[in-house]
Amino acid sequence: MGVSLRDTRSADLYRRALHYLPGGVNSPVRAMRAIGRDPIFVERAAGAELFDVDGNRYVDWVCSWGPLIHGHAHPRIIAAVVEAARRGTTFGAPTAAEVDLAQEVSRRMPGVAMLRMTSSGTEAAMSAIRLARAATGREPILKFAGAYHGHVDGLLAQAGSGLATASLPASPGVPEAAAAGTVIVPWNDPDALVAATEQTQFAALLAEPYAANMGLVPPACGFLELLRERASATGALLVLDEVITGFRLGPGGAQALTGVIPDLTIMGKVLGGGLPAAAYGGSRELMERVVPAGDVYQAGTLSGNPLAVAAGLETLAMLDEQAYLHLAALTDTLASGLREAAGDRPLQVIWAPGLLTVFFSPEPVVDLAGAQACDTEAYGAWCRALLARGVYAPPSQFEAWFPSLAHGPEHVAQSVDAAAAAFAEIDR
Ligand SMILES: *Cc1c(COP(=O)(O)O)cnc(C)c1O
Repeated sequence: MGVSLRDTRSADLYRRALHYLPGGVNSPVRAMRAIGRDPIFVERAAGAELFDVDGNRYVDWVCSWGPLIHGHAHPRIIAAVVEAARRGTTFGAPTAAEVDLAQEVSRRMPGVAMLRMTSSGTEAAMSAIRLARAATGREPILKFAGAYHGHVDGLLAQAGSGLATASLPASPGVPEAAAAGTVIVPWNDPDALVAATEQTQFAALLAEPYAANMGLVPPACGFLELLRERASATGALLVLDEVITGFRLGPGGAQALTGVIPDLTIMGKVLGGGLPAAAYGGSRELMERVVPAGDVYQAGTLSGNPLAVAAGLETLAMLDEQAYLHLAALTDTLASGLREAAGDRPLQVIWAPGLLTVFFSPEPVVDLAGAQACDTEAYGAWCRALLARGVYAPPSQFEAWFPSLAHGPEHVAQSVDAAAAAFAEIDR
């Protein structure tokens, strides 16, 4: 296949996509505008490798932004989904498998005695907030600058500068009233957290326990414990958004790893094993406020969908202690390799098991301000140079790499080599 022919296929698709889909995509980061290039159109993927419509092969460190902890098209997950599909794709009635999945999640997550499934993390976050407001009889929500909890109106609210600031809508179309109910605090800032919780009676303190939507920014020592303490002391619920960290950092997410047990947990991504499944859960007492056990309304036509449940069950069944040790070791190896490839360039390679970010910053990044101070131009150039070498790293400085159990030493080696070459290229 000649180069001009290759260009034609994705360029042509992109032209058509731009005609029918806003920005040519169904979710914004896919457009790759943050790194100044056109999107990849995917033909297929297997394991850790992804192929675009022009026949280019990539080592995929994005892995659909988190769900694919076993890589693409794992034979056992595909078989489970196909078998489920043969029996019917949706019933709108209970099944045995969803009870099995709920039980397995509850077994793993210390804070989840009972849960309700949804189809997206956004829905789960929205529903958890509703429940927290109902349970506390309060409305204000505290969230952290740079944390993402889906595109729920009130949670899109952005940080102002300074310490805790009552927020303005972050997108046209978000009612001022929805944004006004959210107070934003800088991540890893204990003084701001204490001040905000002294000033306002919150329904929920909402956090990604390992913030991963401004790039990976782990909690500072003691910060999650302080969050737990402030929630308990002020009558707010601690709501941990484990959509990324749940079933990735370890068998029981960040809560099992850190021992900081939330009142409500938001889950998604790995939970659905590559199909649309998410959930929110907590103590029996709290969750029995949800209809029809209680009075807090929430529903979903495809919630607990049999295909997603089958994928989720198979995904979790393959995630034993050994798998997590392997994923942690792999991430460590990748991080060391990238750090070495960076030489003495002013970069921060931050990792946690199954998560990694290369910040183009001379300073350690501990919050959104630090992430935003990164050299995003250089990141974009490096990322484009990686893509040109068959390595698909997240096309934005503010996203994490998602190593999977399908990545092997050869994928790490190829990526580290490409990273070194890409650094050399952007230096010029
Ligand atoms: C992806 C994500 C969400 C939203 O999940 P969707 O399924 O995309 O709606 C919520 N919280 C966190 C931490 C996420 O990373």
